[in-house]
Amino acid sequence: MAFKAEYIWIDGTEPTAKLRSKTKIITGAFGGLGTLPIWGFDGSSTNQAEGHASDRVLRPVFSCPDPIRGGDDILVLCDVLDTDMTPHRSNTRAPLTEVAERFAAQEPIFGIEQEYTFFDGSRPLGFPENGFPAPQGGYYCGVGSDEIFGRDVVEAHLENCLKAGLAISGINAEVMPGQWEFQVGPVSPLEVSDHLWVARWLLYRTAEDFGVSATLDPKPVKGDWNGAGAHTNFSTKAMREGYEAIITACESLGEGSKPLDHVKNYGAGIDERLTGLHETAPWDKYTYGVSDRGASVRIPWQVEKDGKGYIEDRRPNANVDPYVVTRLLVDTCCSALEKAGQV
Ligand code: ADP
Ligand code: MN
Ligand code: MN
Ligand code: MN
Repeated sequence: MAFKAEYIWIDGTEPTAKLRSKTKIITGAFGGLGTLPIWGFDGSSTNQAEGHASDRVLRPVFSCPDPIRGGDDILVLCDVLDTDMTPHRSNTRAPLTEVAERFAAQEPIFGIEQEYTFFDGSRPLGFPENGFPAPQGGYYCGVGSDEIFGRDVVEAHLENCLKAGLAISGINAEVMPGQWEFQVGPVSPLEVSDHLWVARWLLYRTAEDFGVSATLDPKPVKGDWNGAGAHTNFSTKAMREGYEAIITACESLGEGSKPLDHVKNYGAGIDERLTGLHETAPWDKYTYGVSDRGASVRIPWQVEKDGKGYIEDRRPNANVDPYVVTRLLVDTCCSALEKAGQV
């Protein structure tokens, strides 16, 4: 007896990492994550090593059923180590692990809204061969073949995420034709990040079978078209129980160098997307507000009404690394809550 394990990892491509994967045949029955062997790869082909010392290590960190192959086959998300078993410089999961452990008692959870765009060749799906489609207005959450492009792929991707057991919580069509969103969470920082990376891999892999490509490009069409973001919804136990902690979290994100520390790590090309137009706040000006989709951070109206809940950081780009955005939010907000004695 044997099963196929698809080892998936995040490469060293700059400024935005790509996903890579390869298949390992494992004999016997699957005995849990801890029994999966470490593996290696050629880091000189992924911008993770020089040719003269090219071996890098894949360490399994999360596994789930493989909905593409089915049967006993599995997907295995790995982080990348050097051969001395220390985290490689491209490994952003290791520093998140440390921060998540430090603040675990505050019970931080995240829901991330992943926006993306399908492309058919060099044009977004639904864009005519010459020129542009009708301007934005009817596409968001639309229905009908004049508004919607790629729903068959989206449905197949959703089904695959559910079969894999990922914490996917919804999907919707977005503001530009061919643009969509799925949400993962709310779950812990490591879970939301691991699940989001696997959901991204499944998106690319599912779309492959339909002959279209999916991109996390934050501004896939220049001009008067919405960009693609990854709104990051965040709460701690104290924020889920009271409004004071909500305000402390919002204020902490505006202190000193924090706005820039965050924004410069929220995905390459963020200044092109956070212009102040198209439901964004300008990248160099931090604001927060209730119901305000033009603010950097939004407090949903229901949260103000209930006096508790979560906040939405609207700044992260679609191409953000979830290991990085969750680490920064936990570090900044949980430190401030701890300092204010609101834990
Ligand atoms: P919108 O498009 O209106 O901004 P969505 O429904 O797409 O909102 O996404 C809201 C996200 O907020 C979901 O991913 C959900 O999991 C997340 N969420 C809900 N409650 C919490 C909470 N207490 N803490 C963190 N995230 C939450
Ligand atoms: Mn949404
Ligand atoms: Mn959206
Ligand atoms: Mn949102």
